[in-house]
Amino acid sequence: MIETMERADKVLAATYKRFPVVVTGGKGVELRDSAGKTYMDFLSGIAVCNIGHAHPRIARVLHEQANILLHVSNLYYTLPQIELAEWLTARSFADRVFFCNSGAEANEAAIKLARRFYKKKGEPDRYRIVSMNKSFHGRTMATLSATGQEKVREGYDPVLQGFDYAEFNDIKSLEETIGPASCAVILEPVQGEGGVVCPDKDYLKSVSEICRERDLLLIFDEIQTGLGRTGALFAYEHFHVAPDIMTLAKALGAGLPIGAMLAAEKIAAAFDAGSHASTFGGTPIITAAALENLKIIEKTGLVEKSRVMGEYFKSRLLELKNRYGACIEDVRGMGLLLGMKLNFKGDSIVHAAMEKGFLINCIQENILRFAPPLIIGEKEIDALAACLDTIFDSLSTEGG
Ligand SMILES: *Cc1c(COP(=O)(O)O)cnc(C)c1O
Repeated sequence: MIETMERADKVLAATYKRFPVVVTGGKGVELRDSAGKTYMDFLSGIAVCNIGHAHPRIARVLHEQANILLHVSNLYYTLPQIELAEWLTARSFADRVFFCNSGAEANEAAIKLARRFYKKKGEPDRYRIVSMNKSFHGRTMATLSATGQEKVREGYDPVLQGFDYAEFNDIKSLEETIGPASCAVILEPVQGEGGVVCPDKDYLKSVSEICRERDLLLIFDEIQTGLGRTGALFAYEHFHVAPDIMTLAKALGAGLPIGAMLAAEKIAAAFDAGSHASTFGGTPIITAAALENLKIIEKTGLVEKSRVMGEYFKSRLLELKNRYGACIEDVRGMGLLLGMKLNFKGDSIVHAAMEKGFLINCIQENILRFAPPLIIGEKEIDALAACLDTIFDSLSTEGG
């Protein structure tokens, strides 16, 4: 393991602070390291592996499609891409889909579409996009500019022009931030990286109303919340508010790189031939696997399971909050996207949990995030709760 770390240290860009673990394989909710130790995965590659690791049906589809056609370019039609778009549009507000390779690229497409829509509409001066403080939309120049976190933008000045930031869950702040040059509002229905922050009741409805009144496009970044994570196929369903544009990635490909930008017909029409493109976007091998993934999520009822298990998981976390109120400030989230806010830095908890065979992570320094595969069961949740109980108990007896 030390040797692997040293090799990585010599050749990989130092962009990640990695845990001292070499992950060599997995099955279902379990991962295995190079020393043969197993872990229960409560992070899913950050909300990616919703159906768990090493699913045999994904392996089979990849194998089959690899023998048929990997890639051919979007100069031609290919069936898996069309079928995937049909699946998504049949189950969402959207009429059209643009495929790309990551979340950031999906948001790039959304930003480009919003600007182009107003240019084509004859309002070329409307190009500014309102996003939220503590949001996360990606690491490309446009998406880091849209991201309302200093630490993501730091060192990259000048960032892209045309973004204004409002407070999440604050309608007045949104109204004050929208100006005559605004063309869209982008937000995550539940802020993920920002600390698993849920919208207040009626907040998204109010945002949607403001967008309609002031003729702004509403963009939902469902890259982390989409595809069952919050206990609905798309998080916007909980709030009965449909956006004009939605972005997906993370869980869409079951671990394979794919992103998607979905839009209502009227908006999507602003993209015509030659206005946007991606070499690998919607390539047959990835879209075939993504479609199989979505069929598995649907057939095995994982969206409903996420809702039910999420409630159970949350109740177990709330028990811990009751017991260790001195160090746990808040438990929040929806479905299987849950957060636990501590009143101290959470790194030590993450390391202690890993030691005991559980993978979780910590965001914004003091918020533990839980996003297990949607196939997780009560037994695994109980095991994690017991593990956290032991850790918090030892902290409180240490007087920490
Ligand atoms: C992860 C994430 C992104 C960026 O996705 P990448 O695939 O890493 O580019 C964008 N928005 C949200 C809400 C995310 O969680």
